[in-house]
Amino acid sequence: MIEFADQVEGRYDRQTLISWWDQPALANAQIIVAGAGALGNEVLKLLALMGAGHVLVIDFDTVSRSNLSRTILFREEDVGKPKAHIAKERLHEINPEVDVRSVDGDLRTAVGLGELRAADVVLGCLDSVNARWALNRRCLQAGVEWIDGAISDFHGSVARYSPDRGACYECTFTPRTLERFHRRYSCPFGLVSSQAQDKTPTTAVTSSVIAAIQVQQALMMLHHVEEGLRPGERLTVYLKPYRMLTDRLPVNPDCLAHDTLPADIPVTAYDGALTAGEAIEVARTFLPTVDSLCLPLELVVEFRCDTCGAAQPVLRYREHVLQDEAMCPACGELRTPTCVEAIGRGSALAALSLGQLGIPRREILSFSHDDGRFYLQFGE
Ligand SMILES: [Zn+2]
Ligand SMILES: [Zn+2]
Repeated sequence: MIEFADQVEGRYDRQTLISWWDQPALANAQIIVAGAGALGNEVLKLLALMGAGHVLVIDFDTVSRSNLSRTILFREEDVGKPKAHIAKERLHEINPEVDVRSVDGDLRTAVGLGELRAADVVLGCLDSVNARWALNRRCLQAGVEWIDGAISDFHGSVARYSPDRGACYECTFTPRTLERFHRRYSCPFGLVSSQAQDKTPTTAVTSSVIAAIQVQQALMMLHHVEEGLRPGERLTVYLKPYRMLTDRLPVNPDCLAHDTLPADIPVTAYDGALTAGEAIEVARTFLPTVDSLCLPLELVVEFRCDTCGAAQPVLRYREHVLQDEAMCPACGELRTPTCVEAIGRGSALAALSLGQLGIPRREILSFSHDDGRFYLQFGE
C-alpha cells in the first residue's frame, strides 16, 4: 500500500529527470506517422512509451506473415488485418494515455493537407521512392517538417526535410531514383504495375536502430534542441562494419517540390455528402470567379474498350488502379481509361460527393479561377 503521494512513481519519472525534457510539450504534440511497417512499428512503440500525446498513423496495407519478424505490434492472428488499425489497438495497450487515430488508406488522398498542417512533425516510415515522393510533396505543401527513415540490410539513414530550408527529398533524386520512380507508371496509360515491388533484405535490428534515431530527432525538434540534424541533412548508419556519416544534401534549384500553400486559407465545414458542385458553390461565396474543383490526383472515371465497345464506370484515382484491371473482361483487350483532373461547374461529375471522391475531412481543396488557384479547407 502506498502511503504518501510523493512516493507514487509516475510513468514518465525517469525521462523527466533529463534536464531539457518537457513532458507537456510531448503530451501536446501532434505527430503523424506515415507507414506502419517495420520502421513504423518501432517509431510508434517509442512514441507510445514516452507519452507522445496525439499520434495519427496511416498505412494502406494489411499485416502479412513476413512482417512478423520485424513488427512488435503485430501478432500471428493479425495477418490480413489493416496495419494502421491494429497498430492503434496495440498502442492503446502499451499506453492508454496516448490519443491515437488510425487511417487505413493512401497518404496521397486519405489524410487531409489541413491535418498535415496541424502536425508538429511527420515521421516517414515508408518503403518506396513513390510513397516518399508523395509524402515529401504533401509535407512541403502543408509547410510541415518531416523525418525520413530508410532501411537496407545492414545500413539505414535518417534525413530531415523542411519546407523552407535546405534540400528536400526530391532535391536528392538521381537518374537511378527517377528510374525507380517511373517504373511504377511504366504500364500503358500510366497505370500501376501489379507486379510486387522489390523486397528489401533487412532485419529488426536495422529497423529499430533507424526508427530510434528518427524518434530522437523528432524529440529534439519538439524540444527545440539544436543538436540534431539540420534541415537538408542526412545521417547514415552502417552496422556491418560500424560507421556513421552525416552529409548535407545539395539543394536542387530546379526542384519542383518547394511549393508551400498560402498561410491564410479559409476553413469551411466538411460534409462527406457535399457534392463537388456544391463545394464549388461554397468556394464561390469566397471568390465568385471560381469555376472548377481540381482533384488531388487524376481520377479514372471510365474504362472503354476500343475493340468491343464495352464501357465500365470506374471512379478511382489512377494511382490506385492496377494495370490488370484495364483488360476488357468481355474480349480480353486493353481498354482505354478516361481520366479527369478537375471537375467543372455544371459537369456531370459535379454530382459526385466528397465522400465518393475519397476526399477526407481537413483536406485543402484547390479551385481554379481566371487568375490561378483558390484554396479552401473542408473541416476544422
Ligand atoms: Zn527540393
Ligand atoms: Zn472488349
